[in-house]
Amino acid sequence: MDISHIEHIGIAVPSLDEAIPFYENMLGLKCFAIEEVEDQKVRTAFFRVGQTKIELLEGTAPESAICKFIEKNGGRGGIQHVAFAVADGVANALAEVEAKGCKLIDKAPRRGAEGLNIAFLHPKSTVGTLVELCEDPKEK
Ligand code: ZN
Repeated sequence: MDISHIEHIGIAVPSLDEAIPFYENMLGLKCFAIEEVEDQKVRTAFFRVGQTKIELLEGTAPESAICKFIEKNGGRGGIQHVAFAVADGVANALAEVEAKGCKLIDKAPRRGAEGLNIAFLHPKSTVGTLVELCEDPKEK
């Protein structure tokens, strides 16, 4: 697998409307996209920080992973996942880690925010942190 950089850091927030002003007004970042990913039951807001992005995630239904994360975290937001950009394709990377015994949440790549192929590895195999493999946007 050829990881080129951290594509984004996924941060769960109770409300995008409450969280976006912190990133824009305090940190001086600019939100460049807000997008709903229906099959994940989330709304996302993106900020560029150099080559890496911040992905704010708001759950749109109580059963979404983001709402469950916030509930477990005492009602507060926090870092929910780290996404690595893989230069040689998510399918190849998944096959490689699965062959090495990694548990997968996604057996095959699927469409994430920004139309990029993504897949999540299971936290049982990643020492607790939810890890996402993401198509390198340069490859598009
Ligand atoms: Zn993500």
